[in-house]
Amino acid sequence: MYTILDGKTLAEKILLEIKKEIKENKFSPTLAVVIVGNNSASKIYVENKNKKAKEIGINSQIISFKENISQKNLEKEIEKLSKDKNIHAILVQLPLPKHINPQAIIEKIPPNKDVDGFHPYNLGKLISGNEPYAKACTPLGIIRLLEEYNINIEGKNVVIVGRSNIVGKPLAAMFTNQNATVTLCHSKTKELPKICKQADILVCAIGQSKFFNKNYIKKDSIVIDVGINKNSEGKLTGDVNFENIKEKTSYITPVPKGIGPMTIAMLMLNTLNLYKNSKKNKSQRKG
Ligand code: NDP
Repeated sequence: MYTILDGKTLAEKILLEIKKEIKENKFSPTLAVVIVGNNSASKIYVENKNKKAKEIGINSQIISFKENISQKNLEKEIEKLSKDKNIHAILVQLPLPKHINPQAIIEKIPPNKDVDGFHPYNLGKLISGNEPYAKACTPLGIIRLLEEYNINIEGKNVVIVGRSNIVGKPLAAMFTNQNATVTLCHSKTKELPKICKQADILVCAIGQSKFFNKNYIKKDSIVIDVGINKNSEGKLTGDVNFENIKEKTSYITPVPKGIGPMTIAMLMLNTLNLYKNSKKNKSQRKG
């Protein structure tokens, strides 16, 4: 019998805790969400984040730029936000238009406002086993969800499929820091089913609907489905064929209501932590 890792319920609990902390302490964290162009999926993501932030007392500003903004002007705009003392967290919604170099934009965000944890300073801190200002939201949400269910990570064989900078790579570092043995797979990996079948914890993050079936799953393993895909009827599906594999697992995340809501909750938690950190530094400077 398998257990569903209920990301939605945990995310709601975390958001309520954040809301309470903000209210009780009269905190005023502010998140700036930068969006460029008219990508409709990005617009929906940004509006969802904005709505959720407002619900829990985080000031959230959507800052939109036209599709044809130049690299130089976008960098200047990010610099302005960086200098604004009333903004504590900056998120640049990806993907950016093709003519923009996303890495150069990410590097314009000061590490102490980098709410996604994508800046090389924060990634470097994470990989070296130190504390960054913020850790990437989706990986952080995965670790937090496992902790909630008292799933021990130390010594586990973890296989992550998908090596993006926003999911696979930071997650590999987080699991390694918690003493798991990590294998990071991608599209050039040979014998993927064989490797996945050795996983105590399998993380699927490739963006291909229902790709992972029973042939990839070790009996009683823990399966984390990061994928967000849409089927022909417009319904959300994960990278995992849930119905096909669920009985073979001990724990499994659903899609929706799994890692998606956890990612948003971690974004809000990171915003609150960056805010608190900015106040701590201010009081230290005064002292
Ligand atoms: P990317 O497209 O950046 O990366 C996909 C990765 O999967 C790449 O490393 C690619 O390999 C690998 N891959 C693709 N096809 C295969 C295959 N057949 N076998 C093995 N590896 C493969 O995706 P993201 O990391 O941005 O996102 C992955 C999925 O997670 C998407 O569905 C996305 O929507 C979802 N997502 C969900 C979030 C949430 O909040 N739940 C947050 C972020 C993403 P290679 O490097 O060789 O090209």
